[in-house]
Amino acid sequence: MDGSMRTFAAALSVAAVAGSAGAQSPSSGEIERVLGGISWFGQSSIRIEANGKVLYVDPLHYRPGDEADVILITHLHQDHYVPANVKALSKAGTIVVAPVDLGTGNTVLKPGQNATLAGFPVEAVPAYNIRKTQFHPKAAGNDGYVITINGVRVYHAGDTERIPEMKAVHADIALLPLGQTYTFDSVGEAADAAVDTGAKIAIPIHYGTGEGKHTDARCFADALEKRGVKTVILED
Ligand SMILES: [Zn+2]
Repeated sequence: MDGSMRTFAAALSVAAVAGSAGAQSPSSGEIERVLGGISWFGQSSIRIEANGKVLYVDPLHYRPGDEADVILITHLHQDHYVPANVKALSKAGTIVVAPVDLGTGNTVLKPGQNATLAGFPVEAVPAYNIRKTQFHPKAAGNDGYVITINGVRVYHAGDTERIPEMKAVHADIALLPLGQTYTFDSVGEAADAAVDTGAKIAIPIHYGTGEGKHTDARCFADALEKRGVKTVILED
């Protein structure tokens, strides 16, 4: 194990403690309030409005005229990072986060690192393929993110398969990619991942544009219903 791996393992265990024993579970009312501020614009593009702030993850699509306080980029694939869109959403003081230096003065958060952004604790967590490593190799160091909003942990998985680190995420709301080509192998695997994270609410994303069908979201919901996880299918 090299130095960076040790650092990562230490950071992960800290996150695990913070997400379980250290923190009190939010009420279902708090979770519902945060849920009400989440919008999906297709692919992995998520907008979260909370406490008067606007956060985006991977704005391939966005609300025209919007100004973001925080923009989180999971990785540099063109369906996740569009420099012109980041620019369009930026105002004075917008914090742009990515796993690498974009050459724009952004904040770099690598998996295992965290920061408080616009008042929200944000943890970068790993996102990678285990089998289909040609798409998102672990060595690329891509991010998923856990954003804590009023005690509610919102997990955006990025592009990933089911990976062991998901058991340390301790999400309340989990946004997971369906599509079965570049991310999870199957809808069932995505459902297993939702259970791994401990989420009370799962939201399927990534399907319906380049890959994955709307019926996949329905199957995902059915698979999770039996396992006590509520699925919310957002309109894209
Ligand atoms: Zn990708």
